[in-house]
Amino acid sequence: MPFSLLKHGLFGKSFAPDLPPPVDLKPAYDVVIIGAGGHGLATAYYLSKYHGITNVAVLDKGYLGGGNTARNTAVIRSNYLTPEGVKFYIESVKLFKNLSNEFDFNIMYSERGQLTLAHTDAAVRAFRQRVEVNNHLGGRSEMLDRQQIHELVPQLNLDPGHLPVIAGLWHIDGATARHDAVAWGYAKGAAARGVEIHQKTEVTDLVIENNRIRAVKTNRGTVQCGAAVQAVAGMSSVLMRMAGIRAPIHTYPLQAMVTQPVKPFLTPLVSSSALHCYVQQTGRGEILIGGGSDPYPLYNTRSTLDLKEGLLASALEMFPFLANAKLMRQWAGITDMTPDYSPIMGLSPIDNYYLDAGWGTWGFKATPICGKTMAQLVADGGKVPELIRAFGLDRFSRFEQVNEMGATAASH
Ligand SMILES: Cc1cc2nc3c(=O)[nH]c(=O)nc-3n(C[C@H](O)[C@H](O)[C@H](O)COP(=O)(O)OP(=O)(O)OC[C@H]3O[C@@H](n4cnc5c(N)ncnc54)[C@H](O)[C@@H]3O)c2cc1C
Repeated sequence: MPFSLLKHGLFGKSFAPDLPPPVDLKPAYDVVIIGAGGHGLATAYYLSKYHGITNVAVLDKGYLGGGNTARNTAVIRSNYLTPEGVKFYIESVKLFKNLSNEFDFNIMYSERGQLTLAHTDAAVRAFRQRVEVNNHLGGRSEMLDRQQIHELVPQLNLDPGHLPVIAGLWHIDGATARHDAVAWGYAKGAAARGVEIHQKTEVTDLVIENNRIRAVKTNRGTVQCGAAVQAVAGMSSVLMRMAGIRAPIHTYPLQAMVTQPVKPFLTPLVSSSALHCYVQQTGRGEILIGGGSDPYPLYNTRSTLDLKEGLLASALEMFPFLANAKLMRQWAGITDMTPDYSPIMGLSPIDNYYLDAGWGTWGFKATPICGKTMAQLVADGGKVPELIRAFGLDRFSRFEQVNEMGATAASH
């Protein structure tokens, strides 16, 4: 038995707990954050770290990081289509790169590049545009031809079914990180600065008077607040309804699956928007397979056989030799899809109630920068940071959408 394990067993003093023990809810907080996923926790972390606001409660109806943060496939990238989107995600990638140092906690950030396959001339045109926008704003992307794709991923079938690969969008900044570690890193850092994280605490209603939020009602009592942020991902429209806000959001399940571990063969993340499928190999050797959202709106985290059949058929078109790999796990989360496939961040019609919503299939990669800008927004009393100005809810009434549909697809 290792000596340190024996010492811990006998004295229990070698490891400091990550979070302080649970406490009672206080009657009032300066800021209440609803949702202890990566986004809510990051907002609390940056509020306490950069703005000295520590009288903060993060409330979650389940356990911290147990929502979509725990269910995503951890793709991090910045090769979107619009300048607004690319600028935003480039800042997130920058923050991700330094998170392990900042937390003193390994988030297993792994920059392995992302390859998106083009099967049509239209896709090639769109990819060229994305390369230009990405590089212009400081990202790293380039077009690859078939030979270069073959050299990068020799195991990839370049002629899947009726959709031969014509070219590829190679995004050098494409990466993954351990999603639980990101949530726990933020939780630990926020708690160390005095933020309270209350699990098993469901917000059931909001008390709004004179167009200001005064308190949130929970299953553990009512707490007053100076301001509130909702960061509940797939439940965004439910919370917005409590606040009397109409949201242009439709909620769909999103599924993913992993095989048993196999010998390492695949470093980059590989996706095909035409096959609606992406494939990556995890650090443990599992082949992770994901695709687009389910075709019908639903609040459900059950995985389905028809999705499995369709997605596996596409994955095998890309990597036929995986036919004998054994599927180990399949799961689902819920995603809030907006009309333009971009998030909703910023002000709401309620003066001191802030929105972090509409995170569809793309929210994990935004965790650091979303938390940082939302914290700035709250600390500045509603002055919207430039980086998220384009993503306000009011863009839908002004017809100024940030259209990322083509750059989202099944690349995540
Ligand atoms: C299968 C799958 C794959 C994905 N892959 C990627 C990917 O590769 N890259 C990427 O960038 N994104 C991906 N996403 C999207 C990403 O997971 C989400 O956008 C992101 O995790 C949202 O984080 P969050 O902190 O806002 O939400 P969550 O992690 O969902 O946290 C919200 C929290 O709010 C809590 N809550 C809800 N209602 C209440 C209430 N009334 N009171 C209190 N608490 C409440 C929930 O319990 C939950 O813990 C994927 C999603 C899924 C499902």
